[in-house]
Amino acid sequence: MHYFVPKRCASSSKIMYHDREAAQRAADESFVERGAELWVYHCQYCGSWHLTSHQPGSYMAAPIKGQAKRHSRKRGYKPRHQ
Ligand SMILES: [Zn+2]
Repeated sequence: MHYFVPKRCASSSKIMYHDREAAQRAADESFVERGAELWVYHCQYCGSWHLTSHQPGSYMAAPIKGQAKRHSRKRGYKPRHQ
């Protein structure tokens, strides 16, 4: 089997993909083979496509451990004056 040596970005040293589809295919493969979910993004340094394990723009929406503390809302609870 021929071993494929991909080009790597000089800036991020990530594998360079010529187009979005090629990168997406590689991301799909990694998910199927290793269960590692990857996202495709366009690199502003080399102009090609890379994969990242961090979903771009999602860190705000992602649940942060330890910060999931929720105020327990006691519905209808009112301290009554008598
Ligand atoms: Zn790059």
